[in-house]
Amino acid sequence: MRRRAISCKSIPPSKSVSLAHYKVQMTFKELGLHDDVLNALGYMNFEKATPIQEQAIPQILQGRDLIACAQTGTGKTAAFILPIIDKLVTQPHKGTNTLVIVPTRELAIQIDQQIQGFSYFTPVHSQTVYGGGDASGYINEKKALEIGVDIVVATPGKLKSHLMMGLTNFDHLEHLILDEADRMMDMGFIEDIQFIISKLPEKRQNLMFSATMAPKIRTLVREILHEPFEINLNLSKPAEGVTQQVYLAHDEQKVPLISQVLKAHPEFTSTLIFSSTKKNVFTIVRALRAKGFEVHGISSDLEQKEREQVLSDFRSRRTPVLVATDVLSRGIDIQDINLVVNYDAPSNAEDYVHRVGRTARSNTKGMAITLVNGKDMRRLQEIESLIGYEITRMPMPEVLGPAPEWRIGSGGNRKNRFRKKKPNSSEGKRPNFRKAKPSKPKGDSNH
Ligand code: AMP
Repeated sequence: MRRRAISCKSIPPSKSVSLAHYKVQMTFKELGLHDDVLNALGYMNFEKATPIQEQAIPQILQGRDLIACAQTGTGKTAAFILPIIDKLVTQPHKGTNTLVIVPTRELAIQIDQQIQGFSYFTPVHSQTVYGGGDASGYINEKKALEIGVDIVVATPGKLKSHLMMGLTNFDHLEHLILDEADRMMDMGFIEDIQFIISKLPEKRQNLMFSATMAPKIRTLVREILHEPFEINLNLSKPAEGVTQQVYLAHDEQKVPLISQVLKAHPEFTSTLIFSSTKKNVFTIVRALRAKGFEVHGISSDLEQKEREQVLSDFRSRRTPVLVATDVLSRGIDIQDINLVVNYDAPSNAEDYVHRVGRTARSNTKGMAITLVNGKDMRRLQEIESLIGYEITRMPMPEVLGPAPEWRIGSGGNRKNRFRKKKPNSSEGKRPNFRKAKPSKPKGDSNH
């Protein structure tokens, strides 16, 4: 299904706050946070606030509704959690005070871990609520919800079923946070979210975070938020530190090509390969294992426990190569991935930015390679028009046979579509495959 995602640029500039205006970074002390919160931030080595934190924290402390167009990697979690913990420490409250709704269990766990860190020196408690857990998880959820734990971080489906059983204590809820709102819409959670909201007190502060401003998000903003403060971090381009390359490749050339790239870069200790389909994830895993790589796969088909284990092994670098569906492309924070490979071009151009955003985080360098077959050329064109420049085309290594021909528009017109080229473009250079052993061009039966 094709989705039309509108980038954050659609927030009118007069109302939005652009990153470019905020060169001076404030400290958390200057933002007026409580000493117990500052203490935890000190232990976590958070010195200066990121732009979204600098913008959002004062507004949230003042009690204003907020819509922020921001992606993972901008520090958005701390932007909404720090002022909430501050209020919980400084203001009287009872029952569950804050509800954070997120699209996936992984994101719920990640946010809960951050809350535990930020609230370490405070009496604030949080609880995750998500599907697919075991019996003891359910008992913990039930107990925490009935007691009225301070902060609940939940996925919509599971929370709805708790609400229907009357297990929650949301009568005094003061804050509702919707994180990754666009992803929740894409995953079909709108009705669950509307149901949950219908059970909350009307007088509350609402904060919404979304990577895109699709029309349905605008509708949700109008339905839920009251005169929100708007923040636009406008990150619809990959970071400068990412070297982006495209290979036009037939499907049967993809695994041999990935294998060559990995062999040519033994220094890459963390590689994330994205597949648009769940079906392909484990086909790619098997094919790469047959070529001798230590690789694992993750998709929503895995049990919750297995997903957590696979993610944790990849985070800690016990697994150097992970093949994943888009479940991982948003929200999940994994530091210092060296290489992102798009096994296929994502159907939504914004997903390209999210996938590539897994590398070169926090001003580090990274590489992103996109493999484009004959069917995906139109998608590549859409990606390039979103980011505003042409991605460097790499020649297929000769041993892998001829690549597909570019079939959209004429070559001359295509080159003229963009005035700008990526500054680190290395077009024309031959790929560095000196260390690679030749592999068979066709008939990689494991693929
Ligand atoms: P997020 O965008 O919330 O997923 O955060 C991305 C990463 O940046 C997480 O690992 C955070 O712990 C980290 N982070 C967020 N804010 C700061 C900060 N002000 N200083 C240092 N690290 C930060």
